[in-house]
Parts: sequence; structure tokens; C-alpha cells
Amino acid sequence: EYILGIETSCDETAAAIIKDGTKIVSNVVASQIESHQRFGGVVPEIASRHHVEQITLVLEEAFVKADLTIDDIDAIAVTEGPGLVGALLVGVNAAKGLAYAHQKPLIGVHHIAGHIYANRLEKEFAFPLLALVVSGGHTELILMRGHGEFEIIGETRDDAAGEAYDKVARTLELPYPGGPKIDTLAHQGEETIDFPRAWLEDDSFDFSFSGLKSAVINTLHNGKQKGLSLKQEDVAASFQASVVDVLTEKTYRAAKQFDVKQVIVAGGVAANKGLRYAMEQKFKSETSMELLFPPLSLCTDNAAMIAAAGSIAYQQGHRASWDLNANPGLGLERYAKRSTSES
Ligand code: ATP
Ligand code: MG
Ligand code: FE
Repeated sequence: EYILGIETSCDETAAAIIKDGTKIVSNVVASQIESHQRFGGVVPEIASRHHVEQITLVLEEAFVKADLTIDDIDAIAVTEGPGLVGALLVGVNAAKGLAYAHQKPLIGVHHIAGHIYANRLEKEFAFPLLALVVSGGHTELILMRGHGEFEIIGETRDDAAGEAYDKVARTLELPYPGGPKIDTLAHQGEETIDFPRAWLEDDSFDFSFSGLKSAVINTLHNGKQKGLSLKQEDVAASFQASVVDVLTEKTYRAAKQFDVKQVIVAGGVAANKGLRYAMEQKFKSETSMELLFPPLSLCTDNAAMIAAAGSIAYQQGHRASWDLNANPGLGLERYAKRSTSES
């Protein structure tokens, strides 16, 4: 079974072909980071225009690299949401055009389901599993009791983890996206500042990062006013320690409470070296649960993960109708509960 995946929800134009749900045959990602960098973040209009310019080339390259043609494809999976509406529309329309012209089944995929299923390109899932999704727009703990079943047991009440990284990076005058740069700096510094950890209520699996973000900004601001020389590396190390502590501890508690077999980490921040290390220490020393991370290249946005989630949806009989539309605010639980005959 060959699934073509298409992803255009934010600032990467991506197409990929995977075989039997788990093997990558081709995986093409055209990043627009440079075009957005001088604005310090993603500009929606620029993103849409780039997707329009890139989508055909990216699709062609995915077929050339796979040495396959559209006739070999069993179904076309595309991110329908959440994301930027103008960006999503480019992928959705490309997928619909291809599917209609060649009479292939069309599958709408939730972007976060995609991030989670990036892990299945590495290893088969074992349920129940707990997914920690940490990306640019989401920070969630998701319990899965089976394929395609998603129950959100905790989520951020304000900023996403990746968003906090990017905002703190901006304050440190580092270029967008700041997550990887802070990660690198953090490893060169020491935790000299005791930033707050937002544990929230004892039994809550929710997160909050806006207080931490403000604390970092205030510390930098006060430091400047008092003429203190705060080392950028130490600020990064202290900030990262706070983020990683909360993510690791809450994931651990939830994994214990729901007695899961696997814990998987997904989304751009899953590339974080500090998080990977802390999670490995915690889970290896205190549990027998299996811990999975996607390979670095599959943490941030790509279409292989969309094809992977699409493959399961295809197996389960989900088919989108020809009026599939971009769904910028699509919720994961609503997506999971969709009927198998949307058309
Ligand atoms: P969403 O998936 O929620 O719609 P998105 O697609 O924009 O948002 P991703 O592509 O999953 O987000 O991830 C991008 C985010 O990951 C950015 O915020 C970026 O700073 C962060 N990130 C990437 N690498 C690292 C790293 N090594 N450490 C921390 N953050 C990182
Ligand atoms: Mg991106
Ligand atoms: Fe993403």
C-alpha cells in the first residue's frame, strides 16, 4: 500500500510517499524559514504564496525520488487542519485536484495526529500509549487506547512550549525559529537562575508557559537596567531546565496514572536535546515503559507523518468527500470521532 502525504499547514511545503504505513519511500520538505526570518515569525500571506510556488515542484520531486507514479498510489492524505487557512488551502486543493483527476481516495488528516504518527515510522505502537505533543502551536498530553483514538488529558492554558522557546529566543535577539538555538546555548551554560515551574493543581495534566516566559523577559530587562551581565547561555539553560522539568514530570505522572505501555514524544520540541535526555533518564530508571522519539528530521513539519496517520485512517475506512475544506481550528477529539463515511 502506497500513501501520498501532503502537508502545508504552516511554513513547510511537504510531500512524501510511504509504504505499508511505516516505510518512507520519499520525503520532500521545502522550508520557508529564510523568507520569514526577517519578520521574526511566520507571515501568513508570505506562507500561502510560497506554498503555491512550491507545491507542484515538491510533489514532482516526491514521485521522482520514490521512482513511482500517481498510478502506484492507493490514497492521498492531506493535512486539513489545524493551521493557517491560506496555507492549508494550497495542500487541500492540490490533494483534491490529484485525487479527483486520478480517482484516488482522499483522506483528511489532523496535523497533530500526523506529529504523533511520525513515531510509527520508527516503531509499531503499543496501546495504551501516552503522547506528549510539544510543537510550535500545541502542548498536549494525549492518551491513545487504539489507532486513531485520541483523548486529550492535558493541554497548555496559554503558550505552547515551542512558542515559549521562540518568544524567549526573540528576547535574546536570536533569529526565528529560536528553539534549536536556545537548545544549543543551554548546553553551553548553567542553571544559575531559578525560574518558576508551573505545576498548576496537584491532579492537573495541564501546562502553562506564559509565566515562565514573562519571568525570563523580566529577568533580562532587570538585568539590563541594573547593568548585570547575565550570560545568554545561563538564561537559556535556566529556561530550558524549567520547561524540561515540567514536561518530564507531568508526562511521567500521567504515564503512571494511566499505566501505559508506551510513551511517545512528538512535535518540533521533541528535537530538544535537553528534553530527550531528561525523559530518557526518568523513564529508563523508574519505569519499564517504552519511550519513543521520532528521528530529528521527523520532529518538525513533514508529509511522511501525514501519510503515516493517513495510512491508518485509510485502513479504518475514512474517506473525505470532494468538498473537503481547510479546517484551521480543527480539534483532535472531534477529528477522532468523525464517522468513517464523511463523504
Ligand atoms: P503545530 O504543529 O502546533 O501546528 P508547528 O507546526 O509550527 O506548530 P512544529 O513544526 O512541530 O510546529 O515545531 C516547530 C517548533 O519547534 C518551533 O517553535 C521551534 O522553535 C521548536 N523547536 C524545533 N527544534 C527545537 C529544539 N531543539 N528545542 C526546542 N524547540 C525546538
Ligand atoms: Mg514550521
Ligand atoms: Fe507542526
